[in-house]
Amino acid sequence: MMVMNRSTFISEELNQLDRLCRRRTMKRFVFQGVQRIRFQDQDLINFSSNDYLGMSQHPRIKVSAQKAISIAGTSTSSSRLICGNLDLHEKLESELAILKGKDSSLVFASGFTANVGLLSSLVGEGDHIFSDALNHASIIDGCRLSRATTSIFRHGDLEHLENVLKNFRATGRRLVVSDSVFSMDGELADVPGLVKLCEQYDCCLMLDEAHATGVMGSRGGGLVEYFQDRGEVHPDEVGLLMGTLSKALGSFGGFIASSSLVRDYLINKCRSFIFSTALPPSAVGAALASLELVRLEPSLREKLWKNVGLLRKGLEQNGFFSGKSETPIFPVLFASEHRAMEMSERLLDHGFFVAAIRPPSVPLGTSRLRITVTASHSSSQIEGLVHSLAKVRETLGVD
Ligand SMILES: *Cc1c(COP(=O)(O)O)cnc(C)c1O
Repeated sequence: MMVMNRSTFISEELNQLDRLCRRRTMKRFVFQGVQRIRFQDQDLINFSSNDYLGMSQHPRIKVSAQKAISIAGTSTSSSRLICGNLDLHEKLESELAILKGKDSSLVFASGFTANVGLLSSLVGEGDHIFSDALNHASIIDGCRLSRATTSIFRHGDLEHLENVLKNFRATGRRLVVSDSVFSMDGELADVPGLVKLCEQYDCCLMLDEAHATGVMGSRGGGLVEYFQDRGEVHPDEVGLLMGTLSKALGSFGGFIASSSLVRDYLINKCRSFIFSTALPPSAVGAALASLELVRLEPSLREKLWKNVGLLRKGLEQNGFFSGKSETPIFPVLFASEHRAMEMSERLLDHGFFVAAIRPPSVPLGTSRLRITVTASHSSSQIEGLVHSLAKVRETLGVD
């Protein structure tokens, strides 16, 4: 009886998602090299991955991952605190700290667990979190798990944030948290503005640099470095920098860059760090090689920015985009979930994969194609994509 009730509730919820055009399924791909994928017997160019520098298929990174496996094996088989801590982990952490301009860093099993673990260990009941409305799901879950009072401020609206800060001058720890590059829009957080408000209202600032690490700034350090390059911000002014190894760095895992004191605290208090197996040697080996390439091959970023410029121009000329994206992420919005899905499906016939993103990943009424361009796309692939977008829009007519 129990089971039947439950299954009715499950299929009802799924049917409800079907009706809203929000039911999700997984597509199965074959990876065939840099930004080339095979899906349902079609060879496609991928414009949806977060592999901004093409690192995941880079020969040097593959070799480094393989070497780490041959030395240390396929698993650490333990948490860092028991017997899983290798010199490789500590080397990676010191490299990440240097990249981020902080004293130290700590790696996690994923960016998701880094956010959840950090937020839930650093603030708690009686404390206050101020969180941007478009922050990543892992930040939202971290806020919930922390049990701190959480106030959401309107996306990127620092006037609103200031009003909220004024209204909550309570005691307790106070943390402002924001994505630095917003994952679904490609917008930049106003880091100098956030730093100023945090100083004024006595808050710690935490930035999620998942889409900025390896990409933004003169050395690929992230958005804080981007503003540091302009003389507007210093890394000391941002207490907590979270990032992931799984996007531009082409590996897997997450990290927090901070003071050594915060690192020591996390090692003792952060449950997603303490009770989870240390990153496998392959992921650490890959990330180390990738950080070396970020340092030694600025040409990868140069190529990325050239491609970003090319795609932006094409999208603007065809009326697909008029926003402000200064990143490799371009949202092309549609009036309905259905239309975004249709565009994505029709693009397959033209040899391109661009995923449609629907609620709850994005707010209601903002379903979109989220196009990401990388250093490994060619000019003709980018021009081809823009051409095909225009063609598909023409055949589909008004939404
Ligand atoms: C992808 C992402 C994460 C999670 O990182 P994973 O390493 O994939 O778990 C966190 N924050 C943002 C903004 C992201 O885009």
